[in-house]
Amino acid sequence: MEQNKDLDQFDIPLAKRTSLETPSSIFLKKLLILFTFLLLFFSLVALRMIRNVELKPLSNSNSEAERNDSNRILGHLPYEEISKDKLVLIEPNIEVHVDMRDSLLKMRDEAKKDGIYLVFLSGYRSINLQNEIFYSLKSIRNQDAAERARVSAPPGYSEHSTGFAIDIGDATRRETDFETEFENTDAFRWLTKNATKFHFKLSFNKNNKYINYEPWHWRYEGSIEALKVFEASNREL
Ligand SMILES: [Zn+2]
Repeated sequence: MEQNKDLDQFDIPLAKRTSLETPSSIFLKKLLILFTFLLLFFSLVALRMIRNVELKPLSNSNSEAERNDSNRILGHLPYEEISKDKLVLIEPNIEVHVDMRDSLLKMRDEAKKDGIYLVFLSGYRSINLQNEIFYSLKSIRNQDAAERARVSAPPGYSEHSTGFAIDIGDATRRETDFETEFENTDAFRWLTKNATKFHFKLSFNKNNKYINYEPWHWRYEGSIEALKVFEASNREL
């Protein structure tokens, strides 16, 4: 009896042990599967991050250009319309961003001292006006949108709506207004040499693959706001 008792006592804990072991081993298995899964998941994440870090410097300039390309419409980047309180009238029918007024007028004065007479042809243009220009001229000239876009920006995509763009002519050669021929005027030659001093830059040079060469169209980059506006455009250069 004593022995049986002992055996019983011995058996009971044994049975208890087995019954306890089964759920814990299932739990352990689950834990192992979860751990393996997590390990795999984090390895994949880590691999991806490493690949991105490695690829980034190589493809950086390309992806920037692609992003800009996706924002473009017929080769033009989008530009918001300037708020009216930042516009100033510099002469009848010519309004510009207040940031560039002084520099623009100073540039014209300096040119005059050198015997060059700059004439301002077009400054700020509202998106509504750009809309009229783009669609009316397109039909007058019997051009489709893509052809027209080479010489005029679609509404919402013109530098003129920012107030930082100015079309300039030569007061002594008005027949060259808005013509490629303007590049052969004294005014253009003077601008090429001096405009940078006044923070003006030619927007559409001969290398632009989307938009025709516009020797008369200059933009101002002499304030932080202006630089922000043309950041995307400059990033491509
Ligand atoms: Zn222009």
